[in-house]
Amino acid sequence: MIEKYIEEHKQEIIKKVQELIQIPSVISNSTNPQYPFGKPIGDALAYMLNLGNQLGFRTKNIDNYCGYIEFGEGNDLVGIIGHLDVVPEGDDWTYPPFLGTISNNKIYGRGAIDDKGPVISSLFAMKAVMEHYPVHKRIRLILGLNEENDWKCIDYYKKHEEIPSLGFSPDADFPCIYAEKSILTAYLKMDYTSVLNQDITIKEINTYNNAINVVPKTCTIILKINPYKIAMCDFIQKLKTIIDENQFEIDLYKIDDQEIKLTSHGKTSHAAHPNLGVNAISQLLITLYHIFNLHHISIELFDFFYHYINMQYYGENLKIDFEDESRKTNLKRWRLLFKKQYITNRIKPSNPCHHQYDYHWK
Ligand SMILES: [Zn+2]
Repeated sequence: MIEKYIEEHKQEIIKKVQELIQIPSVISNSTNPQYPFGKPIGDALAYMLNLGNQLGFRTKNIDNYCGYIEFGEGNDLVGIIGHLDVVPEGDDWTYPPFLGTISNNKIYGRGAIDDKGPVISSLFAMKAVMEHYPVHKRIRLILGLNEENDWKCIDYYKKHEEIPSLGFSPDADFPCIYAEKSILTAYLKMDYTSVLNQDITIKEINTYNNAINVVPKTCTIILKINPYKIAMCDFIQKLKTIIDENQFEIDLYKIDDQEIKLTSHGKTSHAAHPNLGVNAISQLLITLYHIFNLHHISIELFDFFYHYINMQYYGENLKIDFEDESRKTNLKRWRLLFKKQYITNRIKPSNPCHHQYDYHWK
């Protein structure tokens, strides 16, 4: 019966997804307290609540921080949690980002998959259930408006509204993602002045503005040696041995008798799948660890990197290669470990999925 309802309303569902995409609900600086995330996002909520009303649901606008569309009776509240805000459109679109063009049986537009398509689909699925089956629970589609940024929408919801006793979040993919990886952005910093007079120094590092959530493809570094203490040909030989033993792809280019450029070649991949990439920066840091050590120069940051991070994806040496159902265990251990050994300062995360910390070497 549900399939029949969806089939009969297919064109209407597609049209509603297109109309919702046409509202450019990107966060904007709003001085109007009526629209904490800007008017376009408020418009997207108004559109959805209006549609919910037309379809016969109860609706509520929660001060334009979020809203919900609900049906059913009973004590239990089932939450379906989606969001109406989208990330900025960016460049290089084949079709206009805020139109909802249909081509090759697909709808193209910002938010088509994340999360306007899933929100409209959920609403019509609720309608199909409401029309055909009695339900003994309340089913509530919660519409977040700040998911792509600070999740203030859900903070506000939690303060003012009932928390569902169970629920799911149809966001972006199908059929089911039951857990999500977190990302920890750690800045490892050290004071370099104490090693400036060593026999080997780093003159220049270039990571080519690698995005934080991408496994870096290329990294170059220029090393300067003290020619009175180290012969360049020996130095190059040692570097070659290190590179070969580790099977790294690093090119060496001798600039003169004092300077050499190392170019590390990795393989890029999204940070969600580091195992599909090869980290060019890690290759170089490990090489630096070895070459500095061979010359009896100890640099704490390289030591730490070599012993704890290395080329591992799962944090085996950090002893964080396990998880619990909340997936927070790893992060807790990270913090503990850093706090115990290295940390003097940190920045608090604003987004629960994106933890950003500053680790300053003492
Ligand atoms: Zn989303």
